[in-house]
Amino acid sequence: MQRQPLPKFVDARKFVTGGMEIHAFKQVADLSRFTAGLANTSGSVDVDLRFFRSEQGFKCIEGTAIGQVDVLCQRCMKPMPICIEAEFNLAIVWTEEQAKALPKSLDPLILGEDEDLVLADLLQDELIINTPFVSYHDDAVCKVFELESEAEPVDVVSGTEEGDTRFAILGQLKPRD
Ligand SMILES: [Zn+2]
Repeated sequence: MQRQPLPKFVDARKFVTGGMEIHAFKQVADLSRFTAGLANTSGSVDVDLRFFRSEQGFKCIEGTAIGQVDVLCQRCMKPMPICIEAEFNLAIVWTEEQAKALPKSLDPLILGEDEDLVLADLLQDELIINTPFVSYHDDAVCKVFELESEAEPVDVVSGTEEGDTRFAILGQLKPRD
């Protein structure tokens, strides 16, 4: 199956009526809210979306998104690759009231009548929800242990520089007259 670049917008209700499917990819670099929580902007995300009307009559979007990205290890602050997988079941509704009335198995997607669905926004929301809050390398590969052994003593300020600084401060404190 050949994946296409993710369309920018779709008429989600029309897609439900037509029983449409989307099999696409999106460059991680194009998802700025998502990349804000990553180590870099490399990689791409595979997206599969199915639009359909459920037996209960809800306008549904069933989707998965899978991407290999780099996050920062919170111990050594170096990039580490992780796979992020998002699975979601959404129902298109008009209002907050309708959103609250949905069964627990469906998450609301509030969309006005003439409002197009911005697919990258939907994708980013789902990816961000599924990004772990903190990530750590395995001990065996974590750079923090290398950094500790390579650490050098911090340079101390030389006596001359310290003297100059003190002199400058004294100069500032001297009364002007
Ligand atoms: Zn690490």
